[in-house]
Amino acid sequence: MSFENKNTWFRALQAGGLDPLHAAFEAAWREQQGSIGKDHGHYINGKAKAGGGVYSAKTSPSDARMLVGRFVQGTKDEALAAVAAAKAAAPAWRATPWQERADLLDRVADVMTRRFWELCCAMTLENGKNRFEASIDVDEGIDFCRSYAAQMREHNGFVTSMGSPFPGEANETRFLPYGVFAVIAPFNFPIAITAGMTVGALVTGNTVVLKPTQDTPLCGELVYECIAEAGVPAGVINLVHGSGSVVGQALVDSDDVDGFVFTGSVGVGLQILHTAQRRCAKPVIAEMGGKNPIVVSAKADLDKAVDGVFNAAFGFSGQKCSACSRLYLQQDIAEDFLARLVRRMQGVVVGQPALKDTFMGPVVNARALKTYLDAVALARRDGGRFIAGGEQILTGDLAHGYFVQPAVVTGLPASHELFRRELFVPFVAVDTFATLDEALRKANDVEFGLTAGVFTEDTAERDFFFSHIEAGVTYCNRRRGGSTGAVVDAQTFVGWKNSGTTGRGAGGRNYLQQFMREQSRTIVTG
Ligand code: NAP
Ligand code: MG
Repeated sequence: MSFENKNTWFRALQAGGLDPLHAAFEAAWREQQGSIGKDHGHYINGKAKAGGGVYSAKTSPSDARMLVGRFVQGTKDEALAAVAAAKAAAPAWRATPWQERADLLDRVADVMTRRFWELCCAMTLENGKNRFEASIDVDEGIDFCRSYAAQMREHNGFVTSMGSPFPGEANETRFLPYGVFAVIAPFNFPIAITAGMTVGALVTGNTVVLKPTQDTPLCGELVYECIAEAGVPAGVINLVHGSGSVVGQALVDSDDVDGFVFTGSVGVGLQILHTAQRRCAKPVIAEMGGKNPIVVSAKADLDKAVDGVFNAAFGFSGQKCSACSRLYLQQDIAEDFLARLVRRMQGVVVGQPALKDTFMGPVVNARALKTYLDAVALARRDGGRFIAGGEQILTGDLAHGYFVQPAVVTGLPASHELFRRELFVPFVAVDTFATLDEALRKANDVEFGLTAGVFTEDTAERDFFFSHIEAGVTYCNRRRGGSTGAVVDAQTFVGWKNSGTTGRGAGGRNYLQQFMREQSRTIVTG
């Protein structure tokens, strides 16, 4: 399949440089200053609803003095009112021709393209993504819309003529929507993943109740706005702000929600899976955590490998689900590799994510900061040696945010929990191996199976890695991200083991079918 890379930064580079991209971001950043700090309610049945709960302040992880806005804490009743609106809208939406639903997604992509830099800046403010990473996030959201619209058309709305075993018998199979989908979204790709899950449910004929995380409620609302602006009947999409334990749980407990699409941590994902299905069978499409390894062989090009590990481990402060958090080095090259990695890290700019040269912004909240500091303390207690990082950054205005140094620790035993538990902060644990077989055993010895990478110039080693690694998204020699950086329609983003419940991935060719159930129709004439 021919593939055109539509990423904004990639096209800007090809067109002569990133200056226009920087200028656009900075203009939007200045404009944003005038619109932040407002009160935000829900959107139910096409209308803004103030909500009866308390409004709580959401501040930027970069600086607690920067108010993003005040967001209503939804109640159980408000969540259920949104479900009722989605349920009432479901019959008409299901009956809407799939061509119209596909056209809607193209219009959503158009709106997101027009509001591109506004979305990027909201994200930089709200979760601390730098401008470059934020632009990739928004691009990905647009790509999901275009890809899923195209897939509906390619599959003829998932209506297929089947065989006719007997004279006069016509058979077809149709994929039909379930009804109401709850979309429960994470903070780390607050436009891309939120939009991708939501439009996946919508284009297949389901109506939606969207619950963004409290860490990125503004981005959730912007996704809602883009879809609403593209023109969708009242009640087809509803948004409820609030906590997972109140609003999320109310959705999970509701018999009127027919399916779930969730991206987040394994603990919450498995809880949703088990609770949602306790009374009746319903789909739970859950994409969950990772503890992603990169294996560097003695036959690797170490320059490539250092870049690949650095980008994968520390891009967006280690808060990509695909981030590298375990590094396995073949013994002969371990020392040399680590020396180079530490040199590579010396130039890294950790700072305000809105500034042009910042590579790493903050971690997302106080809990993530504590996770980092606790992991550092645990590693030190158990004999770990930090060859880089390990401290919070408290210089100047960074003391007002959640900034930490990217950390690399050696000397922990392979069985240590820091090789197993997802931390979701910029923290890499390093181990060595003698044979590739040993490396793969170690790499696979976790509950997760999301992404993984290898660096080797030896094709037999590469093939051995691909055929033995237990992970859904795998890479060989990827300098731009040794375990990160999936692009819609290029890499299906799918988790194995406890990284996903369905074995099918977003942005791939088998994702949309999960939002529908198949019906075989036999019509006998004559
Ligand atoms: P999270 O803490 O698990 O939260 C995800 C969502 O679940 C939030 O909207 C949260 O709401 C909600 N929630 C919490 N408790 C709930 C409950 N009892 N019932 C229903 N909903 C509930 O995840 P996160 O911190 O936002 O995101 C990071 C995690 O996502 C990491 O584990 C990462 O690996 C994973 N991730 C996976 C993929 C993938 O494709 N596999 C992609 C991206 C991220 P509140 O936060 O508002 O309470
Ligand atoms: Mg969380």
